[in-house]
Amino acid sequence: MQTLHASKCGLSTTQLPSYILDVIDSLTKAGYEAYIVGGGVRDLMLGLTPKDFDAVTNATPAQIKEVFGRRCRIIGRRFELAHVYSGRELIEVATFRAPPKKSVTSAAGMILRDNNWGTIEQDFVRRDFSINAMYYQPRKGVVLDFCNAIDDIQTKTLRLLGDPKLRFEEDPVRMLRTLRFAAKLNFSIDPEILKVFTPEATLLLRDVSPHRLYDESQKLFTMGHLNRVLPMLIEFGIWQQLFAEVPAEINQFIERAARNTDQRIQVGKTINPAFFYAVLLWEQFLARCDIYAAKGVVAAEARAQAGLDVLKRQATRTIIPRFAETFIREVWEMQTRLLNPKPQQIELLSNHARFRAGFDFMLLREKSGDESTQGMGSWWDNYQNMSMDEKERVIGQYNRQRNKSRRKSNAVVEDVTESKVSSMIEPLVKESESRSRRPRKPAPSQPYENKRSNPAHARVESGTIHADHPILKRKRVKRDLNSVVFGPTQ
Ligand code: ATP
Ligand code: MG
Repeated sequence: MQTLHASKCGLSTTQLPSYILDVIDSLTKAGYEAYIVGGGVRDLMLGLTPKDFDAVTNATPAQIKEVFGRRCRIIGRRFELAHVYSGRELIEVATFRAPPKKSVTSAAGMILRDNNWGTIEQDFVRRDFSINAMYYQPRKGVVLDFCNAIDDIQTKTLRLLGDPKLRFEEDPVRMLRTLRFAAKLNFSIDPEILKVFTPEATLLLRDVSPHRLYDESQKLFTMGHLNRVLPMLIEFGIWQQLFAEVPAEINQFIERAARNTDQRIQVGKTINPAFFYAVLLWEQFLARCDIYAAKGVVAAEARAQAGLDVLKRQATRTIIPRFAETFIREVWEMQTRLLNPKPQQIELLSNHARFRAGFDFMLLREKSGDESTQGMGSWWDNYQNMSMDEKERVIGQYNRQRNKSRRKSNAVVEDVTESKVSSMIEPLVKESESRSRRPRKPAPSQPYENKRSNPAHARVESGTIHADHPILKRKRVKRDLNSVVFGPTQ
């Protein structure tokens, strides 16, 4: 173990937010050891701005709770730790851990429970990378380095502590962390890791909960170097484990969206990780729509069902939270609305809660060479910057063109019918369509529903739609066009 002077590592308390000093000071005052550890120390030493600060102590979660009282909540089962609130900030405070007991690992070597308290010397070997295992005591102005991590910082090397094969078996998520840190810090991966980081090893990720994998995928999307990590995900075979149905190739749309995401983060704009999921799964969604369309399903219904299908399949790998799923389906549905808006609803649409995301998505499609947007991405882009007079003029122009093309396709509709619905935009996604996570009780009259809610049938094979599927009963019928209200979704 070597004790480094914090000041020689470029560290000083002035760089630290008051909330982390508050946590360290409170624990010290109560008689415990307390350090800042992990990404906060690593990033500061590399001259980067840390995302957050994690603390570690010899106090057990119950003792941490005693120190902070109602400001503290103990969370986690597999990995118990304390969440301490300081103002609006949340700080993770972990307790030093000793090696796990044999009885709490799975047959494949995965650690199922890791709540065996220990000393700082035992704790550092439990951490993943050397550069994440430096303990900074800001009041003493020291950094405890047990594994010569300072060398790895200087040579920009990502080195796992211990035997990499074993460390991946203990926790396969470390494979994703390897790629995340290599991309984020622009570090090279230690050859010892490369030796064992094979496509076979990535199969271990199948045993990781899809909830945890979603969290990790979010971190990958939001670290600011998505464009750099995507080819790495493919190269190391992680892509197939995370997005089983998405071909392992980065098309122009995905690449542009990744670059755009990184740029937004760079300039401090917010990003919604679900947006990138919408991009990744877009082609699958379109293919699924085509399958339903070929079966004669009404377009709006086909899109709704296709969206549910695609997200359901993705859930076998990463469980996207319900609100994010709704967001994704709304962005997809917006594509249809923006492509062919009712003239009376254009202004309303541009103020819709999902307009911005839908428009960004369409513009990205268009800029990456997708001609099916018919230039509407740029049209909306221009529209937003116009005065009211100009808006009225372009809407009139759009209306005339629209009627012309409709007459051409013999689908003449009285605009009077449209004005009746112009003050309202139909919901993009019907909440009743949301998939149920809890298995529903089988209803004998709905055989397809039973299948859907049975986890054994979670994987719907492409192109196989059950003959009883209610969607197939909704065939296109010849309608009296005078009594039909044509919306963009029909
Ligand atoms: P960042 O917060 O910038 O994403 P980080 O290194 O702080 O990076 P966290 O997930 O916040 O990552 O974890 C804090 C610390 O906990 C890590 O630095 C590492 O020491 C330890 N740690 C986290 N996940 C693991 C893991 N799967 N295996 C071993 N140690 C881990
Ligand atoms: Mg952290």
